[in-house]
Amino acid sequence: MIPYRPEPFTNFLEEQNMKKINEALEKVQTELGRDYPLVIGGEKIMTEKKMISINPSAKNEVIGRTASASQELAEKALQNAAQTFQTWSRVPAHQRSRYLVKAAAIMRRRKHEFSAWLMLEAGKNRVEADADTAEAIDFMEYYARQMTELADRGRQTLVPMEGEDNDLTYIPLGVGVIIPPWNFALAIVVGMTTAAIVTGNTVILKPASQTPVIAYKFYELLVEAGVPAGVVNFLPGDPTEIGDFLVDHRLTRFISFTGSRAIGLRIHERSSKVASGQIWMKRLIAEMGGKDAIVVDKDADLELAVQGIVASAFSFSGQKCSACSRAIIHEDVYEDVLNRCVELTKNLKVGDVRDASNYTGPVIDEKAFNKIMEYIKIGHQEGRLVAGGKPAGDTGFFIEPTIFADVNPNARIMQEEIFGPFVAFTKVRDFDHAMEVANNTGYGLTGSFYSRNRELIERARVEFHVGNLYMNRKCTGAIVGVHPFGGFNMSGTDSKAGGPDYLLQFTQPKLISEAL
Ligand code: NAP
Repeated sequence: MIPYRPEPFTNFLEEQNMKKINEALEKVQTELGRDYPLVIGGEKIMTEKKMISINPSAKNEVIGRTASASQELAEKALQNAAQTFQTWSRVPAHQRSRYLVKAAAIMRRRKHEFSAWLMLEAGKNRVEADADTAEAIDFMEYYARQMTELADRGRQTLVPMEGEDNDLTYIPLGVGVIIPPWNFALAIVVGMTTAAIVTGNTVILKPASQTPVIAYKFYELLVEAGVPAGVVNFLPGDPTEIGDFLVDHRLTRFISFTGSRAIGLRIHERSSKVASGQIWMKRLIAEMGGKDAIVVDKDADLELAVQGIVASAFSFSGQKCSACSRAIIHEDVYEDVLNRCVELTKNLKVGDVRDASNYTGPVIDEKAFNKIMEYIKIGHQEGRLVAGGKPAGDTGFFIEPTIFADVNPNARIMQEEIFGPFVAFTKVRDFDHAMEVANNTGYGLTGSFYSRNRELIERARVEFHVGNLYMNRKCTGAIVGVHPFGGFNMSGTDSKAGGPDYLLQFTQPKLISEAL
């Protein structure tokens, strides 16, 4: 295999690229409103009950309807995955890797089509959708190579012993339940699923309720790439019906979860209980929320910092776990940074992402819309509204990019994950104070420090306690293989997706020693 290189982003300022994505968008729009099955062991099953996916930019547009699994079907899926594990786990690692390389090649050819689905189902603008698809391709290419490297690693790392043949191999765990969020509706689904299967496990993929159609499109692509039936079982369903059932089941060997802290902790608790007949301790990989901060020192390049805050806070309507939701600014430059952020923010156009002039699209659904509007009410009690604060049209779930200034670090809007186009500003006296405020939440996912002061940059490297720390750049936009991703504290198990240690979590090392 040729070495991994991250997929380049598409430049939509070039006319022919804009034309290609718009053609893909037109094609996908002719395919809206269809029904999709769940799939167990290759068998497509329709159910009477359906999950309905809608376009968050246009509430009355149905993206598609998928089947909705019952507990009986979840049982069938687990049994099937357990059976398929017997054969898939024996497929050589290099062969498993090649399925991913093939799948990545197919996705690359249909890149704009996948991005178009993301625009419509997740409400991403062209640039964000393209980055999501590129990341999905990267995960497959990267994990394919990581798997071959892991397969060859064992023998090389052992100390030789005369008269013995020793081998350390990384064998798969068993059946995994993959539970992704909707916000990287392709990249995270692809990353979590392919990491689990390339290491030899079989999985139940339960997509997020808001974005099941794009997940089905990925499932279809795996079939096209030749992945055998039953390796990935596609199981959309209401989590109140099948969520606990899948997590609690004795056949579940591991759970790979990305989502909110509340659901992550629920799964953590439940997965630690041993079900009747269960013969292992379940493994949990849980990537959860963030309350990410950008800290700006008085010696920073202020324009660079402002651009970083606005991009990190409002790209994809702030619906990234890495999004900047706290701006912690040195008092000497506070007013300048705040005023310039407000100026840029007021120029961001909000609306349907099909219109290329709209930077900020919708939030994902009505529940998210109501939750964010509720936090705006709280913001009025806890700070000074300086930008946004209102809904922006009612065809979709649009909210103006919102900034609250002069907020106490302990205020709710500085502590709780809001997951929308919303950032709170606070003023600090000096570096020590900035670090105290930055580290003052239950989370620890991403953060940025802007400064030209070498000494403070070195101190921030040690004292800023987050899993992904960036200096003089925005706190979003991790690239597979370049910026392995995961956070501390209540941000999860810090599994570092897209990093060299990630696949280990889906394996168990076995040592075989033969006396010669
Ligand atoms: P969520 O509400 O926690 O849902 C995540 C997944 O869990 C969905 O598939 C959901 O299904 C499922 N689920 C809900 N209840 C369940 C249960 N009882 N048992 C099993 N599964 C259950 O989170 P979200 O709103 O989709 O995503 C946003 C959150 O993800 C934010 O907190 C964000 O910070 C976090 N996130 C973290 C990272 C990271 O790498 N750290 C990356 C992206 C997002 P339904 O969709 O059907 O409810």
